[in-house]
Parts: sequence; structure tokens; C-alpha cells
Amino acid sequence: MTRRIPEPFRIKMVEPIRQTTAAERARALDAAGWNPFLLDAADVYIDLLTDSGTGAMSDRQWAGLMLGDEAYAGGRNFHHLCETVAELFGYAHTIPTHQGRGAEQILFPELVRRCGSAQPVFVSNYHFDTTKAHVELAGARAINLLHPDALDTARAADWKGNIDLDALRGTIDTLGAANVVALIMTVTCNSAGGQPVSMDNLRAASALARSRGIPVVLDAARYAENAWFIKQRDPAYADAPLPAIVRAMFACGDMFTMSAKKDALVNIGGICALRDDADLARAVQVRCIAQEGFVSYGGLAGRDLEAMAIGLREGLDEDYLRWRVAQVAYLGQRLADAGVPIQTPTGGHAVFVDAARMLPHIAPERFPAHALACALYLEGGVRAVEIGSLLLGRDPRTGRQERSPFELLRLTIPRRVYTNDHMDYVADCLIAVQRRAADVRGLEFSYEPPLLRHFTARLRPVESEAVESA
Ligand SMILES: *Cc1c(COP(=O)(O)O)cnc(C)c1O
Repeated sequence: MTRRIPEPFRIKMVEPIRQTTAAERARALDAAGWNPFLLDAADVYIDLLTDSGTGAMSDRQWAGLMLGDEAYAGGRNFHHLCETVAELFGYAHTIPTHQGRGAEQILFPELVRRCGSAQPVFVSNYHFDTTKAHVELAGARAINLLHPDALDTARAADWKGNIDLDALRGTIDTLGAANVVALIMTVTCNSAGGQPVSMDNLRAASALARSRGIPVVLDAARYAENAWFIKQRDPAYADAPLPAIVRAMFACGDMFTMSAKKDALVNIGGICALRDDADLARAVQVRCIAQEGFVSYGGLAGRDLEAMAIGLREGLDEDYLRWRVAQVAYLGQRLADAGVPIQTPTGGHAVFVDAARMLPHIAPERFPAHALACALYLEGGVRAVEIGSLLLGRDPRTGRQERSPFELLRLTIPRRVYTNDHMDYVADCLIAVQRRAADVRGLEFSYEPPLLRHFTARLRPVESEAVESA
């Protein structure tokens, strides 16, 4: 029985949300081409599409907006941000960016240039999709070395975000350290279900990379949730204050990119920071000016920088994190108790439902997790997102659908936005879908975009589940 932990905040402002009728939802989904990305947000009752930029700011952050210094250069909010980054993470050079991918686009090309290899690769526990895109845009290849534990959703393991250390060693040996641009450790590992990386794994991977002269980048969007899991699951850190755990984590990196739209609790913002490499910082700043904005605002307003500096600290509040992770676990437990198959244990920001196990009659080519997202929307106006074959897409060389290792429905929980009553509602809707799982139909394209197809694809339910053999 998961203990219910009540919200460590009270509500000062409300935003009305409207429930729709079943007929309205059927019309809306049809108009959206059976793609929840194309729904109007107004037609969604509970929106679990993403935890990115969807959180609620605190009264202190809103007050911080009023302290925005909108000077073009050297504003006070920039200095507040730099001081906060130096104190929390121990990094000397802070470059604000408009969001996480802004940090990626100014850092990665510079790392590739410095590496000088003709066949550059990045290695990672798992590259987030924009991270992979920016690695490739910089002319490099992205190799994921996730520990195999993560692929077995039914198997409980504490550290499903870990990198496979043997595979890391083998990959560096095979490719040659001189071709490895950087090791990117994503904490928590978003793509594996918000699963944490252990301190031991982070240390060992970092030591291995550094011993071969490979710089270590932390992709730190969920630094606080990862630190919280370390405190909960690693006895060596049970009594450690959270800021000390964060400092120890960031000691394993030489630089970090961060989407501040996650644990830093703002609606827009990002950071690229370097521990001590002043030369690299200068080079990245030049790219920042060309692509993001001057080095002291990086595409953000002064008030955004202030909200971000405050949010970086608030994200580490233990009462908040205890409630946050418990809320995700609560939704997961309600589903698991009813026999809905989920990635176990639940991670930091989402519950992942195993649609391949829930809808075994739908072939991967018919997108079982996307079909489940549509059924959940029709049931109760809840919007979730597919992480599976539809997202993965086709092999660009052969045009064949790539084999996805999983077909997951991600129920992503925005921060400080919904109560556990909302979670009960979501669970009730999904359990209702599970009861009539055999009636849920697979989907086929009526329009398939050539690139990043999941965002704008249009689909329709199939007449028959039979799939032509390839
Ligand atoms: C969200 C995210 C990013 C990209 O950040 P944006 O703010 O969306 O540009 C990069 N890495 C990880 C792990 C993320 O979760």
C-alpha cells in the first residue's frame, strides 16, 4: 500500500478545466486525425502529454518575475542565476539558453570541432530525442548503451537509467577513444521511463571516460528527481542532505546541458554550464550570441532568468520531491493493483504503461500504445503520449518500420499542477479501457509525414488487425 503524501502547498490561484462529453471527444479526436498531438488543449480535461514547461510556478517565482532586469547585457538576474549554478552544482561558467535544445545546439558542434575525429560519436545511457538530433546535426553519431534491465518492464530494478559499463568500455575500445566526442549521462533517463542513474554508475562511467580523455556531459533536466532517488535507494546517501548529493553527482561531469522546463520548475528556459574550461566557455558563448542571444540572457527575458534561479533551488525542496515522486508512484500503484501492466518501479516524472502487454492483439505496425492513447482520450478526456513504434519511425535507408524494443504509453505528470484526485480519475479511466481492451483497434496512416511523423501524422482505426507479412 503506497502511503498517500498530501500536497506540501496550498492553492492560491485556480485555472478552470472543462470536462467534455463522449460525443464531443469522438468529434475532436476524429478532427485531430486520431493524433492527440493535434487536439486543441481546450478539448483535453487532464493533460499528461509532457512534464516539459507544464509545471506551476510558486508565489516566490511569480514575485521574481517582477524583479526582472531587462537590460540587454549584464542584468542582475543573470548574476543571480550564475551564483545559483555555482553554489548548487559547482560550475564556474553559466550560459542561459531558451530551453534545453538551445544548450545542445551551442555546445555539441564545439565539442565535435575540438574532438577533430572524422567519424565522431557520442555515447550515452540514452540520448533524448532532441539530444540525438543535435548530435547528428553536429555531424556525429549517437550510440545508446542503456543497461538491459530497463527493457524488461515487469522486472523491478532500482537503477534502470544506468549505462551498461561493459558495453561502454567495449564501445570505447572498438571505436577508439579519439573518436568519442563525449559521454552524455542523462539523469534521470527520460526515455527509459524517468528511471534514475545510481551514484556508483555515474562515478564509474565518468571515471572510465575521463581515464580515456573523453569529456563527460550531464543531461541534467531531472537532476533533482535523480538526486531524490539516490537518497531513497542508496544506503550510503540515506542521511546525506540533497544539495550534497547534487554536488556529488555534478562532480562526475565536466559540463551540463539542462532543460529548465523540468526540475527547475519554469515554463521556458535552459542552461549550458561548464565546470572550469574557460576556453570552451568562450567558444560556446560565441555560438550562443549567434543562435540564442547575448551571453547574459540567451533568448530569455530577465524575468525568466529570475524565475529559473529561484526554481533551481525550489526543485530541491525535500517536501516537494517526496510528494512529487509519491504522486507518480500512487498513480502507478492504482494501475498495478488493477492489473494494468506498467514499467516497474515507477520513475520520477511519468508512469509508463506497457501497451504491448495490455493490447497483445495489436501488432507493432498498428501502434498499440498510440491506440491506447486514443482510447484513453475517448474514455475520459485524458491526453497521454506514445513512446514506441510510431515515435521511432522508419529506417531512412530501407523505408521499413524500425523494431521498437517497447510499446509504451507515457502518462507524464506536470509538476505541482494536479492533485491525487486527478490521478484517481486518470487511473479509473485507464482501468475502464483495460476492461474492454480486446475491443481497442489498431491504427493506420491516412497521412504519414516524412520526418518526426508522430507530431503531425493523421491516422484511422483499421478494419482488421491482420498485418501483411513483409
Ligand atoms: C526535455 C529534455 C531535453 C530538451 O529540452 P527542451 O527544453 O525540450 O529543449 C533534453 N534532454 C532531456 C533528458 C530532456 O528531458
